[in-house]
Amino acid sequence: MPAKVRAMDWSVLQVIHRLGAIPQHRLAEQIGRQRSTINGAVQRLVASGWLSRVGQTGSGRGRPAILLAVNRSSGCFAGVDIAAHQLHAAVVAADGTLLAHTSARLGDNRSPAGVTDQVDLHLRGVLSRAGFAVGNLLGLWAGVNGAVDSRGVVVTCASLGWHNEPFRDELHGRYGCDVLVQGASATMNAAAEALLGAGRDANSLVYYHAGRGISARFVQRGQPLAGATQRAGEIGHVVVAPGLARCPCGNNGCLEAVASGPAIVAAIRRLPRRRLPDTVRKTLTVTAEDGAAPIVQAAFRHRVRRRRDPLNALLTEVTGYLAMGAAMAVAAYDPQVLVLGGYLFEDNPALRREIQDALRRMVLDWDNRNLRVVAGEVLTQDRAVGGAAEVCQRFWANPRGVLMPG
Ligand SMILES: [Zn+2]
Repeated sequence: MPAKVRAMDWSVLQVIHRLGAIPQHRLAEQIGRQRSTINGAVQRLVASGWLSRVGQTGSGRGRPAILLAVNRSSGCFAGVDIAAHQLHAAVVAADGTLLAHTSARLGDNRSPAGVTDQVDLHLRGVLSRAGFAVGNLLGLWAGVNGAVDSRGVVVTCASLGWHNEPFRDELHGRYGCDVLVQGASATMNAAAEALLGAGRDANSLVYYHAGRGISARFVQRGQPLAGATQRAGEIGHVVVAPGLARCPCGNNGCLEAVASGPAIVAAIRRLPRRRLPDTVRKTLTVTAEDGAAPIVQAAFRHRVRRRRDPLNALLTEVTGYLAMGAAMAVAAYDPQVLVLGGYLFEDNPALRREIQDALRRMVLDWDNRNLRVVAGEVLTQDRAVGGAAEVCQRFWANPRGVLMPG
């Protein structure tokens, strides 16, 4: 890890990180300290490798000034996403630039020790591709497909068969850097969309996810809204169709029970087979590990928009429920951008358009909101990138480990 820094020097670093390359004379006005103080801090930061001089200001009036920027080789952040069958890893530089990302199959040993060893191997590989080693890590993010508490304990993870695994402590013990372990995948996607995806230019966004589950996560100025019990945005179990469709949660007619991927597949399976398009019928016979996505995508793609077509009727109904969820999210959070993500919306511009049209009718004062409705850009394999970017952002917001006392 690079040298520790003083609190004063840290504020200089933070400002340079926030503003990008900046001439030294502008730092004093930004930080509100004397030039001599700033000059001393800059000297120390350049000497310890945190800052580098990256060229000069353009041909404006006056003397060209030397630009300062966070030194990309001062350290890095990594993200490792442990999906059901794959490991994805990514490395971003100290300034947040993506340096490398890789994917590999997750081996059969799913025990905590077995998975941690695979993570270690994969992490060392992606770090070396980025020109770094584990000793350069300033922060590490790990994502698992399960429930994780605020201390980084994996409470349950079905795909790994884990219960109450202190995964953060394990990783922190190994690498010595700050470690963030996250569970709910939609939360990670929301953060990734805000940082580097469809919402990167917005101050506030709602990431509306429709796939295996349905949720609406709100992110403002890069900060995801967690709520009192980390459940903000879990609208999937709001009852939208009372009495209809039993939900695994015990209620009837939850949004997820009528409009999630598995719910749509279950409803398609109840339709008369001979009335379904050939392609949809074919996908129904394929039982993949996560079978719902290809079936749902085929159903939307090969839907025949005829009035009495049963599949068309089903998908029209589903669209109505999805629009209700989106309208609730827009009303609750009033975001600048609504990002539509998850496999229902992927490669499905027709559905995204229908949701937008429905919102125009359902949301109060639509015309004065200037709400942008956009497709998600972050794919599952990008979550490791989003995770690395997330620890990078948290690092710059709250230095913890890097500060020297005094
Ligand atoms: Zn439910």
